[in-house]
Amino acid sequence: MTLSPPRHIAFVLSRLHRQGFQAWCVGGCVRDALLGRAPADWDIATSALPQQVLAAFPGCGASLAGAAHGTVTLLLPGGSAEITTFRVDGDYENHRKPRQVLFTPSLAQDLARRDFTVNAMAYCPGLGLFDPFSGLADLENRVLRCVGQPAPRFDQDALRILRCLRFAAVLGFTIDPLTRQGARQSRGLLPGLSGQRVQEELTRLLPGPWAARVLWEEQEILFAALPELAPLAGCGQESLYHRYDCWGHSLCALHHAPPLPVLRWAALLHDCGKPLVKSIDQNGIAHFYNHGQAGAQAAGRLLRRLGFPSFLLQEITRLVEHHSQPLPIGEKRIRSLFAQWGPQGLFRLLDLVQAHTLALAEEPARRLLPLVLGAKALAREIGNQAGCLSPRDLALNGRDLLSLGYSPGPQLGAALKRLFELVLAGKLENRRPALLQAARAWQKPAPP
Ligand code: ATP
Ligand code: MG
Repeated sequence: MTLSPPRHIAFVLSRLHRQGFQAWCVGGCVRDALLGRAPADWDIATSALPQQVLAAFPGCGASLAGAAHGTVTLLLPGGSAEITTFRVDGDYENHRKPRQVLFTPSLAQDLARRDFTVNAMAYCPGLGLFDPFSGLADLENRVLRCVGQPAPRFDQDALRILRCLRFAAVLGFTIDPLTRQGARQSRGLLPGLSGQRVQEELTRLLPGPWAARVLWEEQEILFAALPELAPLAGCGQESLYHRYDCWGHSLCALHHAPPLPVLRWAALLHDCGKPLVKSIDQNGIAHFYNHGQAGAQAAGRLLRRLGFPSFLLQEITRLVEHHSQPLPIGEKRIRSLFAQWGPQGLFRLLDLVQAHTLALAEEPARRLLPLVLGAKALAREIGNQAGCLSPRDLALNGRDLLSLGYSPGPQLGAALKRLFELVLAGKLENRRPALLQAARAWQKPAPP
C-alpha cells in the first residue's frame, strides 16, 4: 500500500532520515489517507528531540509554542509541518492531561499512548505501515477500539469518551463492545472537562452523518456532558403532531438539518424548553406554550457554559426561539423575515423549520413539508426579484447618507434599515436616484 503525503511532509521525513533519525506520519492522517479521505493535517512523529529537529532545519521558520510537549512546527513553503518527538505520557492529572511528558526512542511506545487503534498507526514512504495494535483490521471492519484496556484509558483522559463518539458520528464506525462499556462507565468524569473542550468535540461531532444514531445509542454519555438535555428523554408529546418524545424528535430534527454546526446545534437544542413549560389539557393533549422562548434562555445558559463565542450563541438561541413558525408563511411574512434575519439567517431559519417538520408525525409532516418548501421557494423568488437581500445590497451606502447631511450613528443606521425594508416590501426601487430622493425627504429641516 502506498500513501502520498504532500511534498513538504515528504521533504521533512527524508531530511530527518538522512540525519539518522526515525520519522513517520502518524495518527489521523494515516487513518484518513487509508480511508481515502483527505487528511486535515499530516502529523509527523520522530525520534529526534525538539532541539535536534530545529538543528536539522536551519533557516526554516519554526514555532516552539508546543515544545514543552515535544512539538516543533516548521513553516515551509508548501505549508506547515508539526513534528513531535516520540513520547510516553506520564501520570494523568484530573482525568485530562498528563502531569509530565517523557520522550522515548520507541515508536511503538509513542503509538501505545494514542486513543484508538485506528489512530495508532504510523506510515513512512519506503517503509510502509507500522501497525502494532491491528488498527488496519479495525479500520477495514470499521470498528473503534481503545489501545489497551478501555476503562483506564477513558479514566486517564475523559475527552477520549467524546472523541470516540465523534469518530463514530463522522466515520460511521461501530464502537467495540468493551470500548463502549468503558466509555459509558467513565461518563461521570465528563462534567470535570472544561466547557470549551466539550464544545469543540461536540461541534465536530454534530455535523457527522451518523450523529443522530450515535447520540441516540449513547444518550447517557451526552446527558452526562450536557445534563440540561436529560429531561427531554421521556418527555412525552401527547398530540397528533408527534410520533416521538421530545428527545426522539430533537434527534430526528438533528438528522434532517443540513450538516452545518450552527444548524445542528440549533436542532439539538430547539426543544430544550419543552420540559420546562409542558402542560396537559383536560383532553390529555400536551401543550408547550412559549417553549421557544424558554428554550432560547436554557440554550443560552448551556452555550455560555460551553464557552461559545457570543455571535454563535446569539445565532443559535435566536434560531431556537423562532423555530416554530406558523405555516404557511406568506409573502408579507417572508419579506419581514428577510428584513429581520437577512438572507443567510432566513434560509437557516427555514432549514431548521424544515428539519423540525420532517421530525413530526407522518401525517402532519406530509401535509406541512410542502408549505415549508413553498416558503423557501418564495424566499428565493423574492430574494432574486429584489436583487437586494441585505442592507449591504442597497444601491446606496452610508457615505451617501452622510453627504446628504445625516449624522453618523443611530440616525444613519435607522435610515438604511428603513430604505432596505421599503425595497424588500416592493415599495421602493433599489436604484440610487429613488433611494436618495426618499432619504432626502426624510431629513428633518435643519433648525434655524
Ligand atoms: P482529526 O484531526 O480529524 O480530528 P485526529 O485523529 O488527527 O483527527 P487529533 O486531535 O489531530 O485527531 O490528534 C492527532 C492524534 O493524536 C490522534 O490520531 C491520536 O493518535 C492522538 N490523540 C489525540 N488526542 C488524543 C487523546 N485525547 N488521547 C490519546 N491520543 C490522542
Ligand atoms: Mg489531526
